[in-house]
Amino acid sequence: MNGHRLLIVEDDEGPRDSLRAYYGRSGWDVRVAGTVADGLTSLDAGPEPCCLILDLKLPDGDGRAILERVRAEGFRTRVAVCTGSMDLAQLREVALLKPDAMLSKPIRLPGVWIEPCRVCEGQGERDHGATPTAPAPSPPSG
Ligand SMILES: [Zn+2]
Repeated sequence: MNGHRLLIVEDDEGPRDSLRAYYGRSGWDVRVAGTVADGLTSLDAGPEPCCLILDLKLPDGDGRAILERVRAEGFRTRVAVCTGSMDLAQLREVALLKPDAMLSKPIRLPGVWIEPCRVCEGQGERDHGATPTAPAPSPPSG
């Protein structure tokens, strides 16, 4: 057990199951949702996930709505947006919401977790200041 909580919002069973299996084996408390509605329900039900892996293209809408909720409610959840989209306008809109990571599909494991965990380490205090600068995204290889 590492005590971290992960919420995976992804409608595609293949990647969802491999992420769940991978993180489950590593001791994460993993929850999954396959739609925007389920993802929002899971967020609202709590507890606050440490990390959210978010697919943008979901059957009932745009996954961006979930990232908007995370920002609007001041969750400390780290959000890794994954997308196969090449739609620059859409990607720009997402970037405005400052996800902690942008991943292009297919997702390579284990590269999705962004440390340190703000939820576990900042128990009780929500701090939007002093965020360490994220490393520059590495160019896609292959
Ligand atoms: Zn944690």
